[in-house]
Amino acid sequence: MEELIEEARKRVLGSKRLVALTGAGISAESGVPTFRGKGGIWQRYKVTDLATPHAFAKDPRLVWEFYNWRRDLISKVTYNPAHKALVDLEKIVPHFALITQNIDDLHRKAGSKNLIELHGNIWWVKCSKCDYKAKDKRVPIPFPPICPKCGGMLRPDVVWFGEFLDMDTLNMAVSEVEKADTILVVGTSAVVQPAASLIGIGKKSGAFLIEVNLEPTEATPIFDISIRGRAGEILPRFI
Ligand code: NAD
Ligand code: ZN
Repeated sequence: MEELIEEARKRVLGSKRLVALTGAGISAESGVPTFRGKGGIWQRYKVTDLATPHAFAKDPRLVWEFYNWRRDLISKVTYNPAHKALVDLEKIVPHFALITQNIDDLHRKAGSKNLIELHGNIWWVKCSKCDYKAKDKRVPIPFPPICPKCGGMLRPDVVWFGEFLDMDTLNMAVSEVEKADTILVVGTSAVVQPAASLIGIGKKSGAFLIEVNLEPTEATPIFDISIRGRAGEILPRFI
């Protein structure tokens, strides 16, 4: 493992265009539960029943209770050494892009600048009927939250299971991945699409692929280096 970490460190520091792709696992050590893997929210909540347009149509109060619970939790935690290491890498390598599936805002809080949030951000709301969007940091958001523009019901501005990603955001991510010489994938189970397919796109474009995860994932076979360990312990060792 020591040799793998050393090789990964050399690759990362020698990179001209580095992309980091992160998932829920990078925030686990901050105290934000993951959806899958050990200690996932799964054990307590069936997330696919809550984070869907169907659930919101059926029971918006329940979905808002879930998001208010997540808002409360996320408002009380902060970034960890893994988030911080990515901020440092952004300063070191000539070009750096951070693509995250997380909605928890911890990368921004840590200080990452070139950030692509594939699945939105927990602190934003949008109207379920019109194009209204706003930042709203209240915890909790009183139910029912009403759109000031059209009177429709507001919802979290996040991408739910079964929904499409914003096209411009996804295209930006694909473009970064296609141009990258090295891609560092941290704390993602690589099962949520299309985010996971970015790894395959990077492989096809010839990037060197490094994975940091507690466990083997769906994508492990295509990585050049797979490091098993906690993101908060491994990433600071790359600097
Ligand atoms: P996931 O929950 O499917 O998988 C988490 C992965 O992280 C697992 O493979 C697990 O082994 C790994 N992991 C856990 N702790 C780790 C640690 N300390 N160091 C390294 N790896 C660790 O997460 P996903 O792949 O991001 O997909 C879940 C979806 O749910 C995403 O779309 C994401 O938007 C959303 N989600 C976001 C948050 C958040 O914003 N923090 C939290 C839960 C889920
Ligand atoms: Zn509206």
